[in-house]
Amino acid sequence: MATTAPAQQGPASARSDHAQTGGPGVPQSRLLATEIPGPRSRALQERKAAAVPRGVGITLPVFTDVAGGGILVDVDGNRLIDLGSGIAVTGVGNGEPTVVRAVTAQIERFTHTCFTITGYDGYVEVAEALNRLTPGDHEKRTALFNSGAEAVENAVKVARVATGRDTVVVFDHAYHGRTNLTMAMTAKSMPYKHGFGPFAPSVHRAPLSYPFRDGLSGPDAAAAAIHQIEKQVGADQVAALVIEPIQGEGGFVVPAPGFLPALAAWASANGIVFVADEIQTGFARTGRMFACEDEGVVPDIITTAKGIAGGMPLSAVTGRAELMDAVHVGGLGGTYGGNPVACAAALAAIELFEHGGLVERAAAIGTLLTDRLSRIRDANPCIGDVRGRGAMIAIEIVDPSTGAPDAATTGRIAAGAHAQGVILLTCGTDSNVIRFLPPLVIDDALLHDAMDVLDSVVTAL
Ligand SMILES: *Cc1c(COP(=O)(O)O)cnc(C)c1O
Repeated sequence: MATTAPAQQGPASARSDHAQTGGPGVPQSRLLATEIPGPRSRALQERKAAAVPRGVGITLPVFTDVAGGGILVDVDGNRLIDLGSGIAVTGVGNGEPTVVRAVTAQIERFTHTCFTITGYDGYVEVAEALNRLTPGDHEKRTALFNSGAEAVENAVKVARVATGRDTVVVFDHAYHGRTNLTMAMTAKSMPYKHGFGPFAPSVHRAPLSYPFRDGLSGPDAAAAAIHQIEKQVGADQVAALVIEPIQGEGGFVVPAPGFLPALAAWASANGIVFVADEIQTGFARTGRMFACEDEGVVPDIITTAKGIAGGMPLSAVTGRAELMDAVHVGGLGGTYGGNPVACAAALAAIELFEHGGLVERAAAIGTLLTDRLSRIRDANPCIGDVRGRGAMIAIEIVDPSTGAPDAATTGRIAAGAHAQGVILLTCGTDSNVIRFLPPLVIDDALLHDAMDVLDSVVTAL
């Protein structure tokens, strides 16, 4: 299979003085061996352009050799600080040894049966673990799927059958995925929806509590949202209210205290299924096992994915037994949903989330990042807001004279950090938010180094 492109052979010379394998053995320090992207990444980028549609974009066009801890080593031997975790996925770390062992052992037993043809223990064990770990001590059931969007779709299916109603209420700035129904539920047009319609009907968007912009208390913002839903839809038409407890792609918006509890109480009083989309916030990320716990909110259904399985594709819908069991036999499933290898990875990852100190570690990461970012903000008025919880922190970039969102400056900050070997992601409806989502196993020295880079990039603007 050899071709003339050197990158296909593996970056042997770059590797010789760097990590050979991923996982915790990867040296935990930033290193710029070439410009970023380096020549091998640029060669792969050219092949990508000829082989992959441009619609599949790349934030930082370096190609990965190995990764572990808080470091991603690219094919040119550069060691980049990973503040993205592949969008909040590798919370337990890339190549985490217990996950690798569990996956390897499962692959040697069998790789697939389709759980809806013949069952296997791993699926049931993941369901039992999620039923136990998710908020609330009521009886629960869990169904497994492949992606976050698929989990959201299935949560809506369950809510519609259980209530006999059809409308789904979502919120401003929401992100729920890229399938047809979840595009309808997602707020931002470009790039997620633009040109891809028509979209699924019976989706209603309500205003979200956004303290930095609306200045409303949580209860006041909830009252405004409820009033709008009651007038424009009618509570008795609503099957489900779907909300991210802290928004992900929409800008890491943390609703004001009281907003989520008021909505949950209203949903409960009106027979509406309250669905917490914890696909990004789940599994220790926010310094709690699930973000809803911060205000004691107990969702009727919770959707999870991303961090659940140490990088293997898996998602879940966990809900009240009477809701989940409302669906007829055979109504939920899919060829790969709850794949045994992904389940083995999830069980190893969940063990670490529960007993590996990762909830506490996420909280400590939040304290470090918030402290460093607040000091950078105090010296740089373009940073309008520092927000988030645990290892899910963001800064919102504004024009200091008008307070208007400043996407151009945001892009310059991200590009400056990328050039210095720090993987930073942006987000937000106005593309003016920089988000920090490090693996929970990253060490403090790397976080400080990344904050020093950010400080110098922002100060140099
Ligand atoms: C990423 C995300 C999704 C979609 O997950 P995919 O696995 O990309 O389909 C849905 N909801 C939230 C909150 C997310 O962050």
